[in-house]
Amino acid sequence: MKKLNVKGKILSIALVILLISSLPFANKVEAITKCDVKPNKSEGKKDIILEIIKNISQDTEKDSSDNIDTEVEVEDEFKDEEHEVYIVQSGDTLFKISVKYNIDIRKLKEINDLTSDTIYIGQALTIITDANGLNDKIIVSNPDHILALVNKKNKLPSDYIPHNLVVPNVPFPFKSYHSKKLMRKEAAQALENLFKKAEEDNIKIYALSGYRSYTRQESIFASNVKKNGLEKANQFSAKPGESEHQTGLAMDLTSPSVNNVLTQRFGQTMEGKWVKANAYKFGFIIRYPKGKEHITGYQYEPWHLRFVGKEAAEEIFNKNITLEEYLGEI
Ligand SMILES: [Zn+2]
Repeated sequence: MKKLNVKGKILSIALVILLISSLPFANKVEAITKCDVKPNKSEGKKDIILEIIKNISQDTEKDSSDNIDTEVEVEDEFKDEEHEVYIVQSGDTLFKISVKYNIDIRKLKEINDLTSDTIYIGQALTIITDANGLNDKIIVSNPDHILALVNKKNKLPSDYIPHNLVVPNVPFPFKSYHSKKLMRKEAAQALENLFKKAEEDNIKIYALSGYRSYTRQESIFASNVKKNGLEKANQFSAKPGESEHQTGLAMDLTSPSVNNVLTQRFGQTMEGKWVKANAYKFGFIIRYPKGKEHITGYQYEPWHLRFVGKEAAEEIFNKNITLEEYLGEI
């Protein structure tokens, strides 16, 4: 009991000391607040400085917020008015120009008063450029075009579904129906022709994976990130909207010689070599070639075919270039 009383006394003394010592601080706080609200010349030097600082910061805040508004307006106007002139070169099409500058073909035609898709070499076209949007993800404006460029910079709209998907009449290593058997009709027909020729040449290949919806890309990418981490997953697996498979123009091939899986070893097999040498004849390209990783953004994929049509495929094959280079998009 005695011990507790001593403790109690010490505690109350400590409390009184604390109360007394906190009083001057309380006064100070009050003084500063008063000074800030109502300037008083009789206050100390420090308080006046504080007051001035506060007034300055209030003014600056006001000014900068006004400035921000003005700047945004000016920038927007500037953005709208920014344009350049492009002289049509040999081999140009409205599509190529639209991809190069990331503008919708319709907008390009509207700005230049074009009533048809015909353009002439040497013709001057006004291009409205979106200087601020260049580093952002570009939403592919012409996803139905067979030369549509889809990569890590050019993303398909999440709601894009090709309208003419069919199952090509080619062998798959699995029998049941799956949406990954689908391809756009023109690409499916070209693939059937490629397989016919392969059979004639005694080349045993399978189609493995074609159309991939946005939703499927989402779940595939999420599971790859879970397994390998974001950075690694991004090198071999496309983020939703960034996969060419969503166009319905791509098909991954495999062969029994690599146990029907997707592997870079496919490139070294007789089948892989045959595909590389013959795909262009049917309008396909090896989309992610070896040594072009810095351009395509993807590792070497000897199995991934992309339909671009015979003309483009032949040029891409002969020049040993990528779709990005063909479209002048590097
Ligand atoms: Zn693929």
